[in-house]
Amino acid sequence: HTKENGGNRLGIYTEALSSKRVERFNMETGLRYAVERQELVLHFQPQVSLSTGKVYGAETLLRWHTPDGKIIQPDEFIPLAEETGLIIPIGQWVLEQACMECKRWINAGMPALVISVNLSALQFQQEHFPDIVRKVLKDTGIQPHNLCLEITEYTAVQNLEHSIRMLGELVDIGVKIAIDDFGIGQSSLLWLKKLPVHTVKIDPSFILNMIEDSDGDAIAKAVIEMSHSLGLSVTAEGVETEGQLMRLQQLQCDRIQGFYTGRPMSSDHFIAYFQEISNWVG
Ligand code: C2E
Ligand code: MG
Ligand code: MG
Ligand code: MG
Repeated sequence: HTKENGGNRLGIYTEALSSKRVERFNMETGLRYAVERQELVLHFQPQVSLSTGKVYGAETLLRWHTPDGKIIQPDEFIPLAEETGLIIPIGQWVLEQACMECKRWINAGMPALVISVNLSALQFQQEHFPDIVRKVLKDTGIQPHNLCLEITEYTAVQNLEHSIRMLGELVDIGVKIAIDDFGIGQSSLLWLKKLPVHTVKIDPSFILNMIEDSDGDAIAKAVIEMSHSLGLSVTAEGVETEGQLMRLQQLQCDRIQGFYTGRPMSSDHFIAYFQEISNWVG
């Protein structure tokens, strides 16, 4: 009797497991063709300078529009893209497209803004990655200082020696470097001093409750002060309220990015957004 039950449970278990496997397999197959089938879509989230109130630039965020009409968020497919190596062609496509859009905005009469692009650890590990960046800049005709590459704190500290060399080469090209998701990783601040980076992005988890949560506030304050003392600028991510904006302004945070100043939006919406904001600020 117990054996039978156990057997059943095992049956249910393996069934659930294999349906997970099937799901994963289907997603992997779909992702393999997503670039050529033009199912990947870039959104752009404004970054606003707190001292001027002007739009500083935008972060490029990837979405996957599947053939059955679903929109899949990056948290759901980037990990799989990384495990399978598909992030290499996908990431390259994102970099090219982002720079092309930036050029399109300039052609539409906007001033040259800073376009940020997320890099996966795998891309960052490619020894010839700086060549890829040079080629994309040349092909799209945007200036190096209009491109910011974001790597996570976690990626940056994985292999410090490699990071120092790779970031040095990228900075020599003239692009900007931001450390993403700052604060949730190892959080030893000493290594920041060793790396040639321009900007630190405070993770939304510290900003979302910073008004109610004194720890969040203390961490934001410490990161801003430390970054400034190292000559780095700070972008706070996940700003959703005016209260957070005002507190960050008080703490002399350089820039904010969050739903309060704008959700991730299509490239055309971003052009319209920019024009609207500019009319406001004057
Ligand atoms: P990230 O680079 O830290 O991007 C910021 C994430 O915070 C975005 O999520 C954005 O929509 C979200 N966010 C922005 N403002 C707010 C806010 O006010 N409140 C809240 N709750 N969330 C906010 P998203 O677009 O889902 O992207 C998630 C992550 O996926 C990104 O985190 C990044 O690590 C990764 N990702 C996105 N696009 C790419 C890409 O092209 N390449 C790579 N390698 N990773 C990407
Ligand atoms: Mg999301
Ligand atoms: Mg990012
Ligand atoms: Mg982030």
